[in-house]
Amino acid sequence: MSAPPMSSAPGGFWSPPDPALAAAGADGEWAVARVRLIAMALLLISPTIKIGREPDIPIHVWGFGITVLAAAAAVAIAWILRTRTWHPAIGFASSALDVSLVTTALVTFAFASSPLEALNSKVTFEMYFLAIAATSLRYDPRICLAVGALAVLEYAGLWLMLAWWFDLRAAALVTEGGTYTALDQVTRLILLGVAVMLSFTLVRRAERLQHASARDRLTGLYNRLHFERALEVEIARALRHDRPMALAILDVDHFKPINDQHGHSVGDRVLRELGARLTAGLRLSDVVARHGGEEFVILMAESTSARAAERIEQLRRAIAAEPIDVGNGLTLAINFSAGVAGMSGKDDRLRAATMLDRADAKLLAAKRAGRGCVVGDEGTTRSGP
Ligand code: GH3
Ligand code: MG
Ligand code: MG
Repeated sequence: MSAPPMSSAPGGFWSPPDPALAAAGADGEWAVARVRLIAMALLLISPTIKIGREPDIPIHVWGFGITVLAAAAAVAIAWILRTRTWHPAIGFASSALDVSLVTTALVTFAFASSPLEALNSKVTFEMYFLAIAATSLRYDPRICLAVGALAVLEYAGLWLMLAWWFDLRAAALVTEGGTYTALDQVTRLILLGVAVMLSFTLVRRAERLQHASARDRLTGLYNRLHFERALEVEIARALRHDRPMALAILDVDHFKPINDQHGHSVGDRVLRELGARLTAGLRLSDVVARHGGEEFVILMAESTSARAAERIEQLRRAIAAEPIDVGNGLTLAINFSAGVAGMSGKDDRLRAATMLDRADAKLLAAKRAGRGCVVGDEGTTRSGP
């Protein structure tokens, strides 16, 4: 789980997707794999009947061969997905293969029958649109763009190759599909480009929605909903792999007087700056979220509660030592109290389930102990202001 960028918009489209979208992409890949298997089983019916009836006609042999190849690829992809953890590279490879199989089929038609069989192909060409639409199910705009561009380039390459190889206007080449017109080919390329833009836009919209649903608007940190989901995932991971983890709850001390004396906009600036400082001071793998009001929660994977309490205490001292510039020449010194709870591994199942409550109880203890301190499973840490 990576740390959130301090922004109110998702990252650039060339950056890896958010973990939640990556998980949706892995599910999408499975959905595409299942549809691909069913589609290939159905698509095998017609070429099998054709080759059974007229086994000597080359296009029937080629059509059957290509469809069998595509069916084998569908089975191979499903097998890879079963045996390996999904990675965007699998999405790139499987969707590039879908597009390239369509191109391979068109090349086969062109040479086994007539180039116009490829350039005026009705059903096979449409399969590019299915492959492009399916790229969006990987929820990764990089896959949409790269594989979409591949489809456009492959078809453009096929057209140019056939135009160079054959006299496409020759009457002898005309098939049932019609004559050759360059304008139709340009239109086909434009339509492919439009399909790519639509699938890309769909994924970017999904990214924005995902971003908005997981973030707190004021600070740009993750929100409570996202945090609770991340906590469940992390507890399950720590128990499975027998690893430690820790959780901290922070509450700004005497925050209400800041609002009362300087106004809510100054209070908001303090919360934003605090969120930024917490994120900057922690590891990329730590999940920092706004729990509500002036409370923050931090999930620390691979950290014992003692180490976590130590880090939060270091952060507390650093933050308290550097007053926040809130504009108009005004700086405000802030401090916080924190509670930290942890679990050590798979034998700590009970403590894992109560981590949030335990951290909350420790926070209360920190407030009672006079604020400006961190209370962990090992006791109170107080070493500075
Ligand atoms: P303590 O040391 O006991 O934590 O005292 P406190 O003043 O920090 O705590 P209290 O719970 O009394 O006040 C919290 C304040 O946080 C009250 C509320 O108006 C303010 N607050 C909550 N959310 C926001 C926000 O989004 N922006 C601003 N500016 N203030 C907020
Ligand atoms: Mg509070
Ligand atoms: Mg407070």
